[in-house]
Amino acid sequence: MTHPRILHALTAVYSLRQAYRWLRQAVTDEAVQRVHLAPGPSGPPRSRAALRRFDQLLQAERADRIHADRAGITQVGSTAAPVRPELLDAQRRAELAAAEQAWELHYALMFRPLVGWGPQWVHLAGDRWLGTTGYLLLALTVVDPVTAGEVAAALRRCDAALRSVLRAERSLDPLPGSPPCPACGERRLRVESACPPPARVVVCEAGCRCTGELDCPCGMPVLDERVHHIWRPADLTAVLAQTTAAANAESVAAGSTMGRKAEEGSRDEPKSHRQRCLSDAESNSHAHCV
Ligand SMILES: [Zn+2]
Ligand SMILES: [Zn+2]
Repeated sequence: MTHPRILHALTAVYSLRQAYRWLRQAVTDEAVQRVHLAPGPSGPPRSRAALRRFDQLLQAERADRIHADRAGITQVGSTAAPVRPELLDAQRRAELAAAEQAWELHYALMFRPLVGWGPQWVHLAGDRWLGTTGYLLLALTVVDPVTAGEVAAALRRCDAALRSVLRAERSLDPLPGSPPCPACGERRLRVESACPPPARVVVCEAGCRCTGELDCPCGMPVLDERVHHIWRPADLTAVLAQTTAAANAESVAAGSTMGRKAEEGSRDEPKSHRQRCLSDAESNSHAHCV
């Protein structure tokens, strides 16, 4: 049984990985289109020297961009850079955030050398980004839930920033059949499809939170107050099956009570002449009424 805070953290890593993959794609696409296809200011394709100048320009503009970001100013107009600068900034911020969280986990797991020293392994991985996020996925499974919650919050903030640059939403797909959330009852359960199938989770988009072991009807295997509800699909299926069975049992009980009442009612209430005649006509004893 995985703690819900750990599930949230693992999901945040997968979501960030997806956004980062899209970002890299966007950077490549823009670089390809602008460098090779678009003519430079003077007409001919941009030379290597011109690209170097763009690079210097990017460096020079960086401080201005950060200042504008903090002041909430959206820069308009084109730039001479082959790739939109905010894409490169977002990429850099994501890499820094992932590395920072990897170090946080390293400190939290210092006394478990095999996992704690993972950042050293990252250097051995061919791709630094995949190595760092791979380490996050490994270490998060053994870290305490409170640390996992902090890592999840930091990664979610980074993921949201990356997606706002890309204008991409979180990958949340509706659940087939739209069953109601066992906790809040709203039909807004979503599958987080950024995760690979074995790691998929279901979350409630209404944002309902667990109220703990005493009275929460969510049915998560581990209950923790204030955490947003999150289920493995198999756990949710079991809870929904229980809820449906309970609802069916209730409706059957209600149906049988109503049936009994109706029966009693039919016994108690005197039949009208027409009703009496119709029922008797079926048995052909009152032919004059038909
Ligand atoms: Zn809910
Ligand atoms: Zn709950």
